[in-house]
Amino acid sequence: MAAKRPKIIKKDLKRVSVKPNLLNYEKTYRSFSYKKVEKELAWLGKGKLNAAHDAVDKHLNTWRKNKVALYWIGDECDKKYTFLELAQLSNQFANALVEQKIKKEDRVFLFLPRIPELYFSFLGILKTGAIAGTMFAAFGPDAIYDRLHDSGASVVITSPELKPRIDKIRKKLPDLKTVIVTGSVKVNSRKGEVLFNDMMKGQSRNFKTKEMKPKDKAYMLYTSGTTGKPKGVVHTHYDIIHQYMTSKWVLDLQEEDVYWCTADPGWVTGIAYGILGPWANGTSSVVDARRFSAEKWYDTLEKYRVTVWYTAPTAIRMMMKEGSKLAKKFDLSSLRHMCSVGEPLNPEAVYWGLNTMGLVFHDNWWQTETGGILIANYPGMAVKPGSMGKPFPGIKAAIVDEHGKIKKTGKEGNLAIKPGWPSMMIEVWKNPVKYKEYFKNGWYITGDKAKVDKDGYFWFIGRADDVINTAGHRVGPFEVESALVAHPAIAEAGVIGKPDEMFGEIIKAFVSLNKGYKPNDGLKKDIQHFMKRYHAGHAYPKEIEFRDNLPKTRSGKIMRRVLKCQELGLPVGDISTLEDD
Ligand code: AMP
Repeated sequence: MAAKRPKIIKKDLKRVSVKPNLLNYEKTYRSFSYKKVEKELAWLGKGKLNAAHDAVDKHLNTWRKNKVALYWIGDECDKKYTFLELAQLSNQFANALVEQKIKKEDRVFLFLPRIPELYFSFLGILKTGAIAGTMFAAFGPDAIYDRLHDSGASVVITSPELKPRIDKIRKKLPDLKTVIVTGSVKVNSRKGEVLFNDMMKGQSRNFKTKEMKPKDKAYMLYTSGTTGKPKGVVHTHYDIIHQYMTSKWVLDLQEEDVYWCTADPGWVTGIAYGILGPWANGTSSVVDARRFSAEKWYDTLEKYRVTVWYTAPTAIRMMMKEGSKLAKKFDLSSLRHMCSVGEPLNPEAVYWGLNTMGLVFHDNWWQTETGGILIANYPGMAVKPGSMGKPFPGIKAAIVDEHGKIKKTGKEGNLAIKPGWPSMMIEVWKNPVKYKEYFKNGWYITGDKAKVDKDGYFWFIGRADDVINTAGHRVGPFEVESALVAHPAIAEAGVIGKPDEMFGEIIKAFVSLNKGYKPNDGLKKDIQHFMKRYHAGHAYPKEIEFRDNLPKTRSGKIMRRVLKCQELGLPVGDISTLEDD
């Protein structure tokens, strides 16, 4: 896996991706103010906007009307959609939703693989003023239930392949009135089910997009913390200003670009930088819906002459594993800028990019709650491999202690952001207490540990809590533990993130068994299968260890920290003094 380090790193790193207009980036934006750039948004009326209009429909008055917005790659065929086609399809879907009596702030969820319908449905939902929720296609019935139940979603759009997972929980979801199934063929149809294509038939291509106030809700995503079930992080239409600006200045999207964001819209990157930000810039985007293979990905880069590529460290490491020889079979010369997000980008991956593609991966940092990139290695900046970069202009980031006091340069602490950037979450769904917990002494506390060096570069250290990041997916240990104890053999479960070269972390579960069950490999496999089936395909424990007892606090809470120390061979300390935290 180790990549050969090029000799003149420093010189090369400074040269890469520097475009003359971006050299003065910091200077230009020193006096950056969102108020000043607000005029770049497409306002619908007095102080009213709609993110879907800003992403797509505003281009219909320009030459971009017939520009390809979406290059879609499937297993069987490739398809193309222009901005005009996306606008019309999303209008038809919005009309169909209104016919279903969907109104402002109703929750309409998407549980779809990356098919074209996902993209125009998302835009259509926003156009009606409803809140779009997305769910990753690897979720099992339990994970889906948590999200649909908590949000009180009234509509979910799914595919024939994924529908059986909704069927399993449908009875327990009284708010869920309609299930829209893609395609034209009914499969085991039930009451309250409609076919996507039937709904679209005869709908007008025109729709009066709902005029929204900037802080009206647009979309929501469920995300994990240390405790409890996942929380609904709600974002507004005004997010688009930050997504637009960062797409322009961090991803460096320009008119002639073909851009590929590899993230799934089940996660925030797939929404902010797979839909809203790039299309607001009028960029042609690639979506490759096929299962990952290094060869297919190189082929996509070559075939579509991708110029800007936004991906994630695990994918980069998986490509590294295949070796540079495979990469050399393809013509990757169209690439001019590469970015990475979601998990720590190890310096080796940066060197590998330089060796293989002649370009540096520009790491950036943000999270579901922030709605957009806040810290970045932007083009024109000397990259320090291993650092997340510097705050985007207009963003104030700092390292603070547990009381929210700024720490000295170089000291480790909590990564914190001054609240008020435009894409900051507006609420945690039905949970104002949780929302409040994010803030301390006037700072938004991110949950990450980091440090800042004397040049103002931020360095990621790890999570401040027990949240696991596996292959860039944020996983809450509580969710996994609750799913594990639903298995008939399991009495208790404690879950940790175990460092892994390829996936950043893997999920490791420690379990004690109910009477009558024997620990063996067959049972391990059965538990893993159960977790994939009912919880989530991406969040099952790759490792399981049977224990007679699990370490607990005096009040009976499992001490994940002790399990982690034991796993890593670190001193556990005096357990008897550990109280609940
Ligand atoms: P999510 O909300 O699912 O997007 O996950 C956000 C979390 O991913 C952050 O709080 C970090 O822990 C991690 N993360 C995101 N970007 C980076 C990065 N560039 N380097 C290290 N960790 C990152």
